[in-house]
Amino acid sequence: MLASGESLGNLIARRGKFPLVNAIAPLTSKARMLYRLQIALVFLAPVLLLVALYALGDALGVRAPLLGRNYVVRVALPEPGAMVGLPPILGPEDPTRPLVVIDAGHGGHDPGASGAGIREKTLALALARALRDRLLQDGGVRIAMTRDDDTFLVLEERAEIARRLGADLFLSIHADSAGEQAGISGASVYTLSARASSDAAARFAARENSADTINGIPLEGRDEAVNAILVELAQRRAQVQSDEFAGLIVREGEGALDFHPQARRSAALVVLKAPDVPSALFEAGFISNPEDAGRLASPEGQARFAEAMARAIRIYFARQAR
Ligand code: ZN
Repeated sequence: MLASGESLGNLIARRGKFPLVNAIAPLTSKARMLYRLQIALVFLAPVLLLVALYALGDALGVRAPLLGRNYVVRVALPEPGAMVGLPPILGPEDPTRPLVVIDAGHGGHDPGASGAGIREKTLALALARALRDRLLQDGGVRIAMTRDDDTFLVLEERAEIARRLGADLFLSIHADSAGEQAGISGASVYTLSARASSDAAARFAARENSADTINGIPLEGRDEAVNAILVELAQRRAQVQSDEFAGLIVREGEGALDFHPQARRSAALVVLKAPDVPSALFEAGFISNPEDAGRLASPEGQARFAEAMARAIRIYFARQAR
C-alpha cells in the first residue's frame, strides 16, 4: 500500500518490501533505465500512432478513426433567464401589492403520501385552491399557484417559479402519512434549517451560471466575493422572515387547526431553498389519521385552513410593510 504523500523515490528506497520492484534490483542502473523505457514505449505506442494518424492522416490519405465525432447531439435550450410556462398572477393588477406563491405539493406521476383513499397531491391542491380563493375574496394580495392541475413539477422548479415571479412569500402545502401509526396526527410548519440555509447560499453563490439576480440585483459580471456576501445577506434576511411567517401560522392557526405537539420544525428541504424568498412548508396533517384525513378532505376543514392561513399571510405582509 502506498502511504499517502510518499514519493516514488522513498518507495523505491523501501523496495525490500516490494517484490515487483525487487525483481528489477539485480539489474545495473543503465539496464534498469532501458527496461523502463521499453515499458513506457509499450504503453505509449498506440497513443503515438493515433496522434501521428491525426497529424499526417490527410496528407497520406489515411483516415484516422472518428472516435464518435459523428455523434453530435444538439439540444435546444431555453434562453437563459426565460422560463417556460410561468403561472398567471391573480388578484389586483397593482404590482406594488405583495405576491404570495402557493405551491401544492407533488402532482402528476408523484402522488405523495396516500391512505384511506386519499392522495396527498389531490389534498394539497384542494387546500391550495381554498387558500387562493380565500385570499382573492379578501383582496389586496396577489397570488400565483405553482400548479393548478395534476401536473408534476420538480422541487427546484417550484422555488424557481417564486423567484422568477419576484414573489414576496412562498408557501408549499403538503400532507403527511405515518403508515400504520394511525394515532399520529396534527399539522406542522417547516422552515429551512440554519445549516441547510447557509449551505444553500454557498451553493447558489458558487453556481457557474450566474444569469441570476438576488433581490433584483444582477450577479453577472460582479466580483465573486461580493456576490457571495449578497447571497448570504439575502438568505439570512429570508430566513428571519420565514421564521416570522412560520410563527404566525402557528399563532393564527391556534384553535382553528390541529397542530402536532412539535408544530415548528426545520429541515433541509429543497423546495424552501430560494435564497431571497421567505418560504415555509405546511404539513397540513396526517392522511394516515382518520380525523385529520376527514377534516382535510372536507370543505369545512379546507375552509378553516384557508381562513387561518390567509390571516397569517395578511398579518405577515402588514408587518413587512411597516
Ligand atoms: Zn409531501
